[in-house]
Amino acid sequence: MATGSCLCGGVRYEVEGPMGPTFGCHCSQCRKTSGNFVTAFFAPRDGVTIQGEVRWYQSSVTGRRGFCPTCGSQMFWDGGHPDLEIHAGSLDGDAPKLAYHIYCADKAGFYRITDGLPQFAAEAEDGDAQA
Ligand SMILES: [Zn+2]
Ligand SMILES: [Zn+2]
Repeated sequence: MATGSCLCGGVRYEVEGPMGPTFGCHCSQCRKTSGNFVTAFFAPRDGVTIQGEVRWYQSSVTGRRGFCPTCGSQMFWDGGHPDLEIHAGSLDGDAPKLAYHIYCADKAGFYRITDGLPQFAAEAEDGDAQA
């Protein structure tokens, strides 16, 4: 079992069950909301227990972002799927290894992706990998 929290500790969560590989999301929403790109992983919603008040921001038609209303730490993205997306850096311990990058077409120009991992223009599922 893995545990995580926001910066102030007002929100704590536990993750039981499998945690997917960590990916980097380079979309403009993640950039705006975090100040950089976001690293996150998916875990089955049924295995995630959240304590404390999470504020949810509906950031798109299909997705909402969960953060601590006190310290502003972002921890979750909820796309209405069976799996909940958890921001890797909010874990207390280490996260699954970074495995790929998504929404690279929207990446800002001020940094480079140099780790050699697969890069997808949009979602990873679309098979639109960039060499
Ligand atoms: Zn907090
Ligand atoms: Zn994103």
